[in-house]
Amino acid sequence: MRAAIFHEYGGPEVIRIEEVTTPEPGPGEVLVRVRAAAMNHLDLWVRRGIGIETTMPHIGGSDIAGVVETAGPNAQEVDAGTRVVVNPSLWCGRCAYCARGEHPLCDRYRILGEHTNGGFAEFVAVPAANVYPIPETISFEHAAALPISYQTAWRALITRAALQPGEDVLVIGASGGTAMAAVQIAKLAGARVFALTNGAENVARIRALGADVVYDRAEVDFAREVQRDTGKRGVDVVVENVGEPTWQSSLRALAKGGRLVTYGATAGHRGVTDLRVLFWKQFQIIGTTMATRAEFEAMLRVALRGELVPTIDILLPLDEACAAHERLEAGAQFGKIVLVP
Ligand code: ZN
Repeated sequence: MRAAIFHEYGGPEVIRIEEVTTPEPGPGEVLVRVRAAAMNHLDLWVRRGIGIETTMPHIGGSDIAGVVETAGPNAQEVDAGTRVVVNPSLWCGRCAYCARGEHPLCDRYRILGEHTNGGFAEFVAVPAANVYPIPETISFEHAAALPISYQTAWRALITRAALQPGEDVLVIGASGGTAMAAVQIAKLAGARVFALTNGAENVARIRALGADVVYDRAEVDFAREVQRDTGKRGVDVVVENVGEPTWQSSLRALAKGGRLVTYGATAGHRGVTDLRVLFWKQFQIIGTTMATRAEFEAMLRVALRGELVPTIDILLPLDEACAAHERLEAGAQFGKIVLVP
């Protein structure tokens, strides 16, 4: 099969399109013929080898949709030809966290395409328990754009921040994939959504996505604007993923008793917190990543009803994987870049 593979860590230029052996589905696995594989920033970190050790050579790609080709020994019944989306979360099923259903805390937690070979190829072998049928009404690229972004945003808002209808939410860095998902999920949950992005074009796009109030970070002090627009109250929930440059203002935008939930630190990981404000205003700072199986399934049910539609930036042939990495690295995209084998 053909695959976008790299033999060493580095820039986009390390990605090669090569003919490699088609994987054999192992016990409990199915072989999926990839029809669409969406990119995440995770793919860039994996390729650069930042804080992640992969097997070499490596095929990236965690967000996968395709068609079941064959099943390995003891794989639960999934008919060949079934259109599926893949949950990339891999957990041991035996540790104390797995026993509580807290899969993202698993002692041996791994992500398909990060710790294992992924979907930037014609085929990928995945656990049969991780594939979910998708209806004909949902395109492969639409399905492939869901797993990482939407499960992360779902857990962050619905479970970790326990968002309630009528609450005010501020989504920071709203043109990122997971943040865009957070805007949509917060609206669906009945919140009033404030969002922060960069540039007039992105402001218009985030507004079109459903946000009620969108701020341009280059133009305004967003914490002050939020305080003004909420009658000096602040928002109930801030969804953070930028980190250091926005952290202090994000805290300033919170209402008393508010929750700040963070799943990323894309622009710096040392946020400064005034602890006096933290206890006096009784804030909660909540970390989150990925999702449990139950959360993934809850998100998917809603998405497959057509209530969460991801934005696709561009479809590119697998042969242009290198260009896809360059586009994501340059931040030139709005929505998901999807590779099609
Ligand atoms: Zn476990």
